[in-house]
Amino acid sequence: MPQLNESRKRILVTGGAGFIGSHLSDRLLAEGHEVICVDNLVTGSKRNIAHLDDNPRFAFHLHDVTAPLDVAVDEIYNLACPASPLHYQRDPVQTVKTAVLGAINLLDLAMRLGVPILQASTSEIYGDPLVHPQPEGYWGNVNPAGPRACYDEGKRCAETLFFDYHRQYGVDIRVARIFNTYGPRLRRADGRVISNFIVQALRGEPVTIYGNGGQTRSFCYVSDMVDGLVRLMSAGSGAIGPVNLGNPRECTMRDLAQLVLRETAAPESLVYLPLPADDPRQRQPDIRLARTALGWDPSVGLEDGIRTTIDYFRHHPDLAGD
Ligand code: NAD
Ligand code: UDP
Repeated sequence: MPQLNESRKRILVTGGAGFIGSHLSDRLLAEGHEVICVDNLVTGSKRNIAHLDDNPRFAFHLHDVTAPLDVAVDEIYNLACPASPLHYQRDPVQTVKTAVLGAINLLDLAMRLGVPILQASTSEIYGDPLVHPQPEGYWGNVNPAGPRACYDEGKRCAETLFFDYHRQYGVDIRVARIFNTYGPRLRRADGRVISNFIVQALRGEPVTIYGNGGQTRSFCYVSDMVDGLVRLMSAGSGAIGPVNLGNPRECTMRDLAQLVLRETAAPESLVYLPLPADDPRQRQPDIRLARTALGWDPSVGLEDGIRTTIDYFRHHPDLAGD
């Protein structure tokens, strides 16, 4: 029997069968809450939540957030949206619809219920940034007509909707700008850099570096990210954001490849492929706001996080699957 918990909440996690969403669901369940997971499984997987099948406080609903939904909950985390460039560019119109119609449908639900809602926004708001590191006050440098725009502009419009629902209708919002996050449950065929590099190294295939590998990202381990999201939700209406969540340690893709090769003990084999259009050259969060407003600081170092993630992929019997 689950423990009776007076502060137990029913919490909606959209995108709950995805990478971050499934870890967030685990954390909320561990705190004694009920989780309603809504997902259309476009990039998520039932495997990510299979361990919750018998948990009476967890429920899964196959649903696309571009359609309205009606469910009685106390809090909403909106994570539904493909996050890997490979996947969000596959059906760009659907990506825009997911970001924009999804935000409208969930904000309408939050308004009807009078409950707080957190948006999983992104560092892509900053595009290819001309200010480095990126503070929340920087408005960004996004190409509105390029192949990444379906995601970047979709997420920017979602932020606009969040702040307009807040100003116009008083909806209790939180907006987290998530920087590159990694860890177990990334899909092998996700297409993002950390899963690509690890899977390639474990298979003994060349590691694919796009461009000259001098571009940078700052990688946050998933447990740190989940902690930041939960803190932001709990911070109350005094800290609505936007607030950057990410690990400020910055590294080039060349250095990341070397780290993965070293930790997998794979022989050095690199292949240089063309840089995708509009690929941001640098990315590093300024997290002073998260530190002061949320008391949040990431604690998992890149080497430790990469080792845990390698372990996860190593123990997947079939590296050929998705
Ligand atoms: P993910 O692809 O693993 O998870 C996204 C989930 O949303 C998947 O389970 C997918 O099936 C679901 N989904 C997509 N479209 C949907 C729709 N129309 N209706 C219902 N469900 C839908 O990606 P992730 O890395 O876990 O990202 C989660 C959220 O965090 C996303 O909103 C993403 O934009 C944001 N984010 C992630 C990162 C990162 O580095 N992981 C960085 C910035 C922002
Ligand atoms: N990248 C790479 N090889 C890969 C996949 C990605 O060099 O196999 C690069 C990509 O060009 C980008 C960085 O790694 O500069 C991060 O890419 P990812 O798709 O993980 O995230 P995003 O570009 O959305 O930050």
